[in-house]
Amino acid sequence: MVDLEGELVATHSSIDLHNRDDCSGARATRRQSPADGPVVGIPRGLLYFRYQPLWTTFFAYLGITVQVSQPTERSRFEYAQSLTRSDLCLPVKVFLDHVARLKDSVDYILLPRVISVSPEAYMCPKILGLTDMACNVFLNLPGLLTPRINAKLPKPEGFAQACFEVGRHFNNSQSRVEKAWEVAQKAQIEFEQRLLSSPLDEALSPWDETFSGQDSTPAFQPRYRVAVIGRPYITFDSALSHDLLHLLKRQGVQIVTPESLPREVKDKESQKLSKQVYWQMGKELVAAAMHYMQCPEVDGIINVSSFGCGQDSFTNALVEYYVTKHSQKPYLNLVMDEHTADAGLNTRVEAFLDMVDQRTKIGPFWTRVIEEEAKPFSSKKFVKQPRSPEMHLTIPHMGHLHIGFEQVFKNLGVHITMPPRPNKEALMLGTRYAPECACLPFKMNLGNMIQALNQGATDIMMPGGFGPCRFGYYSVIQEQILRDLGYEFRMGRADDPDSLRDMLDMVKRIAGLRTKWDSYKVFFFILYRLALVDWALRRAHWLRPRELERRATDRALGRCMQIIEETSRFRDLWQAKRKVRKIFAAVAHDRSRSVLRVGIVGEIFMVLENYANMNVEERLGEMGVEVHRGVWLSDWLNDRYRFKLFRRNQFKWALRQAAPYLREPSGGESVKSVGKSVGFARKGFDGIVHLMPFTCMPELVAQTILAKVSRDYHIPVLTLIFDEHTSPGGVQTRLEAFVDLIKRKRGLKEEYSGY
Ligand code: SF4
Repeated sequence: MVDLEGELVATHSSIDLHNRDDCSGARATRRQSPADGPVVGIPRGLLYFRYQPLWTTFFAYLGITVQVSQPTERSRFEYAQSLTRSDLCLPVKVFLDHVARLKDSVDYILLPRVISVSPEAYMCPKILGLTDMACNVFLNLPGLLTPRINAKLPKPEGFAQACFEVGRHFNNSQSRVEKAWEVAQKAQIEFEQRLLSSPLDEALSPWDETFSGQDSTPAFQPRYRVAVIGRPYITFDSALSHDLLHLLKRQGVQIVTPESLPREVKDKESQKLSKQVYWQMGKELVAAAMHYMQCPEVDGIINVSSFGCGQDSFTNALVEYYVTKHSQKPYLNLVMDEHTADAGLNTRVEAFLDMVDQRTKIGPFWTRVIEEEAKPFSSKKFVKQPRSPEMHLTIPHMGHLHIGFEQVFKNLGVHITMPPRPNKEALMLGTRYAPECACLPFKMNLGNMIQALNQGATDIMMPGGFGPCRFGYYSVIQEQILRDLGYEFRMGRADDPDSLRDMLDMVKRIAGLRTKWDSYKVFFFILYRLALVDWALRRAHWLRPRELERRATDRALGRCMQIIEETSRFRDLWQAKRKVRKIFAAVAHDRSRSVLRVGIVGEIFMVLENYANMNVEERLGEMGVEVHRGVWLSDWLNDRYRFKLFRRNQFKWALRQAAPYLREPSGGESVKSVGKSVGFARKGFDGIVHLMPFTCMPELVAQTILAKVSRDYHIPVLTLIFDEHTSPGGVQTRLEAFVDLIKRKRGLKEEYSGY
């Protein structure tokens, strides 16, 4: 829950009242007679279930009419699904449907950009991109109120500032807005207090009449107390939850939820994890499960999530791991989507309650005397270290990353074993042990780790981070899975890849270097090797569609990579570059051939790792297409360590390009996917190929927005979504159809095939 007390204190010091009308073309059009005053629409989805009392009280105090969209209806799921082609989760699609239901009957829609409400955690990437997605999905939106809430900024932007910004938008005096904020804040705090003693629907009823009369106390003495762990916008939305809570109530169950626990209790539980979950709601769900699993008065735990939820692929894994491995509580995991059938749900709940019944033969929870405080557990206790202290290092593959460091470390005497290049075995191993809906890069990495551990590796080095996408938490879930499989190893996490100091320390530790200067030399040598690899790849992308002999470029590229790998000093890099240039110049090609130009954007692992994207670039090259990547490893590194002095910061450049479509980064490469696509379109490219893993949250935001970029610039965008079921044949067919389409669009003759 947000620290509103803190906000009250801050209010007076940091008010910065600027008017931000975000969505170009969205303007307040008068729908009501001026006398009635403006009407603000609030979509009944996602964070509505958290902050509704604050916003409705605030607007009410200012005399602004609030119109909340009607409760979610299952009959509209199909329409909600039709709003975008992207595989967004159902809660987000339903949210967009709520916007659709409001947009023609209100003057404004409240769509705050909620990035983070506490410094240590983000909201879901899809919530970060929600306002931008709504702006790009709907063409004729009324005025939008889009204040930003971001507690992670050096100068945090909180709810107070957001209210002031919105309040001034309606020409209210500062004192009046301050009063409205105080009243709204009290309402929100009261709501959060109520949550500690009653379920959310009851706690919310004073501010939302659709919940009033929904008496949650069952007519008869409840037999069980069950913790329902789920996001409030799913569990308390009777359509999205398929009325689960009422079903449980009818079965004599009293429900407790994460919202029923004070923040301190959840924070205390979160500390027990080796690394904090860096998603606000995800963190609370896991903490609540860890708390309730130790409570004797709780008879069972039901975990509820939405199919395709990126976050829950990890938080579910944590909840399931702790509840099933560290408690005896009956546990039921329910994954909901638009296809969930009530009959199936009823059966599963009944079976679960039978299990609870058997487990609680000692009588209902209220008669049980709490014997002893449950033994606290700590995830840190279960780390089995390898017997030999000697380091035998491995690092999972990602594209040509290994060419940067492997030989360098070997030359420095590091015992390093790289797993085999990503292959079918790695994918199968990773898929077998990874959580459902985990993204493909996670599975590839995990498979690589298992292969390397089977080859005797003792130390795994895995880059990390703090969100908002899942990458930063890969190593935690991977370590949990590998330890569960009985492997003994040390997991090294580079959790702050943005920090040059952290990276230098990591190189120093791995290579056993004595001085910081030595670490600098080694680290920047690795960076320049990777920059040379990308330089060679760019030449190959230019040459492949013009080559006269099939695969000549691939063979040349293979030799070039070898030459780069053999460099051992800085000056070798110049010689290597000359050799690479000569090798490519020697490939017979037709420079005058006109080729198609396609931009490749998307999630970095999917763009860089040929095995994962099924050699999309080579396939397009053979179809006579010159590909240009929007994401390069050396650019990613240069944006952080500035070693390519004449190369501008690609992230900042992409953010400027993306501005008309995307204002707030959603993590991962979402900014580059949109910004670079706009850049390619402005340069007259023939098409864009967007690569992403199934359920990738930032790229789902980008995919939703790219539909608008495609319409505005009349540039075809092909999104390829990969998981372990994707087939090379399917990819080939889609690429051929895409190339045919852009060829026709360019008016090129059919027989044009490159060879
Ligand atoms: S991906 Fe998960 S966390 Fe994100 S909005 Fe969807 S359901 Fe919520």
